[in-house]
Amino acid sequence: MNILILGGGGREHALAWATLQNPKCDKLIVAPGNAGIAKIAECADLNILDGGVVAQFCEENAIDFIIVGPEAPLAAGVADDLRNAGFLVFGPSKEAARLEASKGFTKEICDAAGAPTAGYARFTEAGPAKDYIRAEGAPIVVKADGLAAGKGVIVAMDEETALAAIDDMFGGEFGSAGAEVVIEEFMEGEEASFFVLCDGVNALPVGTAQDHKRAFDGDEGPNTGGMGAYSPAPVLSDEIQAQVMDQIVYPTLREMEKRGTPYAGVLYVGLMIKDGQARLVEYNCRFGDPECQVLMLRLGAQALDLLIAAAEGTLDKARANWADDHAMTVVLAAKGYPGAYDKGTVIRGLDALEESSSQVCFHAGTTQGQGEAKGQVLATGGRVLNVTARGATLQEARDRAYAMAQAIDWPEGFYRSDIGWRMLG
Ligand code: ATP
Repeated sequence: MNILILGGGGREHALAWATLQNPKCDKLIVAPGNAGIAKIAECADLNILDGGVVAQFCEENAIDFIIVGPEAPLAAGVADDLRNAGFLVFGPSKEAARLEASKGFTKEICDAAGAPTAGYARFTEAGPAKDYIRAEGAPIVVKADGLAAGKGVIVAMDEETALAAIDDMFGGEFGSAGAEVVIEEFMEGEEASFFVLCDGVNALPVGTAQDHKRAFDGDEGPNTGGMGAYSPAPVLSDEIQAQVMDQIVYPTLREMEKRGTPYAGVLYVGLMIKDGQARLVEYNCRFGDPECQVLMLRLGAQALDLLIAAAEGTLDKARANWADDHAMTVVLAAKGYPGAYDKGTVIRGLDALEESSSQVCFHAGTTQGQGEAKGQVLATGGRVLNVTARGATLQEARDRAYAMAQAIDWPEGFYRSDIGWRMLG
C-alpha cells in the first residue's frame, strides 16, 4: 500500500513511525513532514489545504490511503475532495469536522443526543451576553464559537474578566471565530482525553491520555499547545469509558448520522471527570498533539490496520490489542514559547540517541539545514521535539523519556521536568 500522511508535526511523525511498523505499508510519503520524518519517509512540499492539489499528487504517486493529521485541512474540506476523487481517506468530512470547528454546533449536537456537558447559552451580540454573565455570575467560561488555536477560551474566575472577554470577542480579537460566543457553566473536576476511532456507525476506543497545557513546572505559566502527555490516564477507568461510550460517543454518532453527516475519523473526546461521572468539555476531530505520540508508541503496527478499518467502515470487526504498558512524551520547546522565540538554532546529539520500539524522539518544528548548515537539524517552531518512551510502569517510561531529553544538546530549548506529576508526584 502507498500511503500519504498530511501534516508535519510530532503527531504526524508518530503516525508515520507507527505506519512504517506495519508490513502493509510499501511506500510512505509525508507532506510537508520535518527533519525527523525525512529520516524515515519521503517528504513532499505540497499545499495540504488545497484538496485539488493533494488529489493530483495522490494520482501521480499511486497513493492508496491518505491519513489527514491536522484540523486545518479537515476544516478546509480536503478529506471530502480526496474521497470525491475516489481515494480511501482517514479523516472526517468538512461537515462532520464542525464538531471541532464550531463550539455552538457541538452544544446543539449534545442537546439533541442528550450527552452530558456544561450548561450554556449562545450569543451573537455583546449586550445580551453580558446580561447573561451578570445573571449567572462567576466562575464562568466564555468561548469564541470558531477555531482560535486554543486561544478562544477564557475561563473567567470573576465577572469582570468574563465581561472583558465578551468585549474582546465581539471587538474582533478572534476574527470571524468570535462572531458567535458560547458562554458555559464552569465545570470542576479532573480533565482527561479519550480517543475513539469512528467509521460513521461504529466506534472503537484507542486509548486515554492526560496532557499538560501550561508552559512551566507546577502548571505555571501561559497555556501552550501541550508540553507533555502520558497514557493511559487511570482517571478514565473502564467504567467511566463505558459511560462515555454509552452517553456521549454513540449518541453523538447516531445524531450525526441522522443529520446526513456521519462522523468517520478519530474523535478526540475532552472530558471533565468528577465523582465518577464524565462530562464533555470539547470534541476535536484529529489526534491530539502530543497525545498522539504516546498512543502511537503504544499501538505500534496495529494503528494502521485500525485507521484503515475506520476509513473503510469495518470497525465493527476491528479491535485494539493493548499491552499492559505506559507511555510518556515530554515536549522540548524553544525558549520563549508560547511567546516569541528564536528560529534556526542548532540541535545536537540526536544521532546518538538510542531508539527502539520503546523509545523514539519524534520531531515537531525541525528542518534539515541547507548550505553551510547541511547535515544539521535546526529548530523552526515553538514545540520542537517530543521524547517519547514506554515501559512496564509510568515511572519507567518517564525515566526513559527524560534520559533522552537530557542527552539532547540544545541550549536554546526547555522542557517541563514534572510531566506525569498527577500520577508520580
Ligand atoms: P484546545 O483544543 O486547545 O484544548 P479549545 O479552544 O478547543 O482548546 P476547549 O477545550 O473547549 O477549547 O477549552 C480549553 C480549556 O478550557 C479546556 O481544556 C479546559 O481546561 C477549560 N474549559 C473549557 N470549558 C470549560 C468548562 N465549561 N469548565 C471548566 N473549564 C473549561
